[in-house]
Amino acid sequence: MEQDPRRGIPRTDVVLGDPRVVAAAGRLGREQVKAAVVGAQGRARAGEIGPGDVVEAALAALEGGLRPVLNATGVVLHTNLGRAALSPAAVEAVVAAAGHTDVELDLDSGRRAKRGRDALAALAAAVPDAGGVHVVNNGAAALVLAATVLAQGREIVVSRGELVEIGDGFRLPDLLVSTGARLREVGTTNRTSREDYAAAVGPETGFVLKVHPSNFVVRGFTRSVGIGELRGLGVPVVADIGSGLLAADPLLPDEPDAASTLRAGAHLVIASGDKLLGGPQAGLLLGDAALVERLRRHPLARALRVDKLTLAALRATVAGPETPTWQALRMDAGELRARTERVAAELAGAGVAAEVTGSVAVVGGGGAPELELPSWAVALPEAYARPLRTGEPPVVGRVVRGRLLLDLRCVPAAQDRALVSAVLRADA
Ligand SMILES: *Cc1c(COP(=O)(O)O)cnc(C)c1O
Repeated sequence: MEQDPRRGIPRTDVVLGDPRVVAAAGRLGREQVKAAVVGAQGRARAGEIGPGDVVEAALAALEGGLRPVLNATGVVLHTNLGRAALSPAAVEAVVAAAGHTDVELDLDSGRRAKRGRDALAALAAAVPDAGGVHVVNNGAAALVLAATVLAQGREIVVSRGELVEIGDGFRLPDLLVSTGARLREVGTTNRTSREDYAAAVGPETGFVLKVHPSNFVVRGFTRSVGIGELRGLGVPVVADIGSGLLAADPLLPDEPDAASTLRAGAHLVIASGDKLLGGPQAGLLLGDAALVERLRRHPLARALRVDKLTLAALRATVAGPETPTWQALRMDAGELRARTERVAAELAGAGVAAEVTGSVAVVGGGGAPELELPSWAVALPEAYARPLRTGEPPVVGRVVRGRLLLDLRCVPAAQDRALVSAVLRADA
């Protein structure tokens, strides 16, 4: 039997009379509090929260923390929206680890245990070519640790074509130099040969660095050198692969993966946890066992140590089921079109100027800059963009030629109703 979702939702004046809500209105002003109450009622109508949770949801929305957002941009790994969305298994693991947990204790013996051993074991199992595994805060931290341990006061040999800016003005060359290492640039923007590297390697070399151009492509008269060719230079080869793919993925033929890079001869692979791996923000260091142990024992490693929540989410991601990132990349276009048509029809039926349009989704901040995923979107008048962003839940789409496109690829199907309700409430 269909339940009336409206039944039992408390009226606005009743919620505004709740003593906690009255107190919040005293602090924050009645207008802001009323907007939060209306938003919470909307969520209850959409079935996202129970009718009894309206007061709590309104108060939570007023607390000013990070808010859950519906990512209708069609950008799978949107840096401004927190990159990868965690899998339900990873979310559960985070919640379970939030209190006291055995992150560094062996419950059997009662003695101290290796921190995050389950996450490290999961990574080692996923990448058998890695003799050692370590995890730090993010990819940048992993680079800083490697540069500090292997090249402080010495040289990092790197191609001029791989001195990349990663975003928000942060540049890898600046990051590397901040450790006290010197850059020994070789080759040119478009072409670097093995001889360039060989001529630069000497007693001052700490390591040779290969950086995957994860957010741009150089085309035309180009040449670069594979890991295998660098292996024979007699110095450590560190490969920053960026995206965090642990094994080769046929959908992403131009994205390097940890296993193949290690097999090709890299001594150390560096990658992010929250790009194509689809996990929490983290920096993965995989490679030669003795080298990884040196990194792990360096004093700086303590400053880059990850939280128990990260370790919990990482283990669940690596050992667990397909991630939302993986699913969004492979979403069936027919199924996506059917969902999009349902949403557009419902909106049009309610008098909203909504139609279905073709769209192109992309990976975003996580790599594969050239990959285009044919997609579908609900097109609305552009005037919906701001009210949808500031509504509850916030919905972020993409404005293309005067229309707001809502691409459902990265919106969980279970949230389609919430998205419809958000549009119907938006005062465009
Ligand atoms: C993203 C990226 C980084 C930085 O990693 P964070 O996890 O964002 O710190 C470094 N190098 C490459 C090649 C990247 O793609």
